[in-house]
Amino acid sequence: MKKSIFSIVLFILILTSKVYARENTMIDVRIGTSNGVETLKARDNIVIKDRNNYVIERLRTNEVEVRVSGLDLIIKGYETLEFDSEQVMISSESDEIIYKNSTYRGSIRFGIDGSKINIINNLDMDDYLKGVLPKEMGASFPREALKAQAVASRSFAMTNINKHKSEGFNLCNTTHCQVYGGKSAENNLINEIVEETRGEYVYYNGRVAETVFHSNNGGYMESAKNAWGSEIPYLISKKDNYSTNTVNSNWKLEYSLNDMGNKLKAAGVNVGNLKDIRVVSTNNSGRVDKLEVSGSNKTEVINAVKFRSALGNNNFKSTYFTVNGESVSGGSSYDLYVEDGYGNEKIKSSSIYVQGYSSLEKINLDDIYLEGQVKNSNSNKPTANTSGKIVIDGKGFGHGVGMSQYGAKKMAEEGFNYKEILRHYYDGTEIY
Ligand SMILES: [Zn+2]
Repeated sequence: MKKSIFSIVLFILILTSKVYARENTMIDVRIGTSNGVETLKARDNIVIKDRNNYVIERLRTNEVEVRVSGLDLIIKGYETLEFDSEQVMISSESDEIIYKNSTYRGSIRFGIDGSKINIINNLDMDDYLKGVLPKEMGASFPREALKAQAVASRSFAMTNINKHKSEGFNLCNTTHCQVYGGKSAENNLINEIVEETRGEYVYYNGRVAETVFHSNNGGYMESAKNAWGSEIPYLISKKDNYSTNTVNSNWKLEYSLNDMGNKLKAAGVNVGNLKDIRVVSTNNSGRVDKLEVSGSNKTEVINAVKFRSALGNNNFKSTYFTVNGESVSGGSSYDLYVEDGYGNEKIKSSSIYVQGYSSLEKINLDDIYLEGQVKNSNSNKPTANTSGKIVIDGKGFGHGVGMSQYGAKKMAEEGFNYKEILRHYYDGTEIY
């Protein structure tokens, strides 16, 4: 009796694992654009497949020249064949193909989008992730951080699957979507980690969550609402102690007025000779919202995102910064006021008490987050110092929304598992 129950269970297990394996999601990733003639190579014989991945032609060569002619695809190898370019994909017996010295799993097809020819890699979602993770995190990170990144990258790819739909593919291979390097970028440890988390996604209310991530939030998570204007319940502002005292948590830049003025000018902010900049407002995660740029001709208020981009997003790592040591309000450092019948009264103590059902509850000011913009109380103070230099003290690298990769690293080092890491960065989500 026991034995038969066991074999039934085993049978069901085998059945479900088969169903599972068939549920592979195939995606189209653009890996380049073409002027119409390309050489594709393989380690074994090249095969031509239809768009459903069925082999329609086996070639007796491991190298072909592919020429796009109108809507046709002329494939020249041992013999010359002609196909409708929208109908076929090029792969090999081992299901790998070499394009410009990089090996890709799956197939390559030529997508014609108006006058543009896109080189598109069609492959399984998890095979795609194997070529993404080494570029997005790197194998030196702890295992649980890598697993968190695998599930986050998979969920992110799934929620962005229609990002390039109008151009005829799903995702591109740059930071616009996720950086992808094909099989050539793979690493054995990371492949193992992708397989261990195969099919797992981050869910919020039963739907796959948009799991954005970045290098380091500098100690305070940014909300989707602050960064992009749309409220997403699992991407909120909150303190993150795991992202301090690690890579990219603090940075410093020094500019001469002339140098910064030229960079702003090149980005279209022309106020004459730059005289000063100062922070006008910060948001509830402590990041700068608006800056005032003063020059010999005029004064302009600009968005911090535009300011950062003018100075170079890779160099000027985030909008979480102060100018010349000026204390910026926001995050945990602003003053609270209580409005009574006579006006505003500032709360001086470091904690406040809230009346609950049965008792008074103490709340630290550090744990209170204010919604919306917070005006800087020092807004009239000039900031450029007498030497004419502008010193920026910054925190974090990237937009600060969702998972902080160096925060995830620290959590993994402190013993948290990948699901705990993901739930920390994507509030109220489940992983399965
Ligand atoms: Zn893209």
